[in-house]
Amino acid sequence: MAIIFVLHLCMDYVVREKRRVPVWLLPIIVVALVSFTVIAIFYLPIRFDGFQFDLRFIPLVFLAIRWGWKYGLSALLITSLWRLGMGGIGSVPGVIFGMVFPVLLALLFRKIGKHYQLNSFFVFSLITLCWLFCDVPIIFIVPNGWEIFKDIFFIRYGSFILTGYTLSFFIRQSIKENEWREQLQYYAEHDPLTGLYNLRTFMTNVKNHFSPAKQNYIVMADIDHFKHINDTYGHLSGDAILTQLADVFKNVAAQMTGVNILIGRYGGEEFIFFIEMEEDKDIQSVVTAFQDKVRETPFYLEDTKEKINLTLSFGVCPIENINDLTHSTGKADKCLYRSKNNGRNQISYA
Ligand code: GH3
Ligand code: MG
Ligand code: MG
Repeated sequence: MAIIFVLHLCMDYVVREKRRVPVWLLPIIVVALVSFTVIAIFYLPIRFDGFQFDLRFIPLVFLAIRWGWKYGLSALLITSLWRLGMGGIGSVPGVIFGMVFPVLLALLFRKIGKHYQLNSFFVFSLITLCWLFCDVPIIFIVPNGWEIFKDIFFIRYGSFILTGYTLSFFIRQSIKENEWREQLQYYAEHDPLTGLYNLRTFMTNVKNHFSPAKQNYIVMADIDHFKHINDTYGHLSGDAILTQLADVFKNVAAQMTGVNILIGRYGGEEFIFFIEMEEDKDIQSVVTAFQDKVRETPFYLEDTKEKINLTLSFGVCPIENINDLTHSTGKADKCLYRSKNNGRNQISYA
């Protein structure tokens, strides 16, 4: 049981740190961890009244349930070959009834049930069926099978159920904790209304992405007469428009080739862009693409579903050196106000 819980701690760590692991390496680590655990279990069996057994199917079954057939069958293959290599009279039935059937059962449960929930009834049914598959053949295969089955069933079934329940409890806790961690991270990095980066994350990402070999620009954008929209149609409509506008920005950025764009919400209805592009590209065409797309797009109000049009004013400033980021942002902001003063719906360059 201790080996299984150490496996759980390792898996929890791997899942938490999976961003740092190359995509191709993750399956190898997971399968290797589970296979190593099952093999360690072979060598450290539970001894009871002259009889010995182990909990081999527990790691295999939970792997198949949580990670699917590719993982489940890979670990099953490795550990089955190992067990057959160890030899002994019990090796073949031990592999068939104690490993292959439980894994196939787990995959069947995964297919028909909500595998991610691992609720009490699910764990009870799965472990009970696995135990029946493992132990009922003893009655028919082994001489005196019924006597042996009677002697061991309580300790066998009890240890499977206890381990299954305890492990599933820890797995559920880990899943919840990981979801909360991911949500917290998302809200720490993004603006909740638009899903764009917040200013702090935007600036950090610009610093991480910056390459002096490329052309780099900071662009500030502000919606024209947004206060009027809020006052006329209400703040909920204002919010709906901000969300739609962010989607327009994301779509335009996604469609642009040869240009790398990061977008953040500077605050209120002001947005900030970092644009990185090759020497032969032209910043004017990039910013104009955003300006034109916003001008052409109908924006829907929250309650009436009436459509309105928007325009933006832009300020653009190049960044020669990443140490000038704050300075360039200030200059882009000044250009934005030049666009406003010159009548809005236009782009000004530093
Ligand atoms: P202009 O920029 O063209 O000079 O005029 P404006 O009316 O857009 O002026 P300004 O940029 O100063 O207005 C900002 C307004 O944006 C004020 C505020 O009511 C609104 N606003 C800021 N943040 C939000 C938000 O999250 N939701 C909504 N609905 N409104 C917001
Ligand atoms: Mg404005
Ligand atoms: Mg503003």
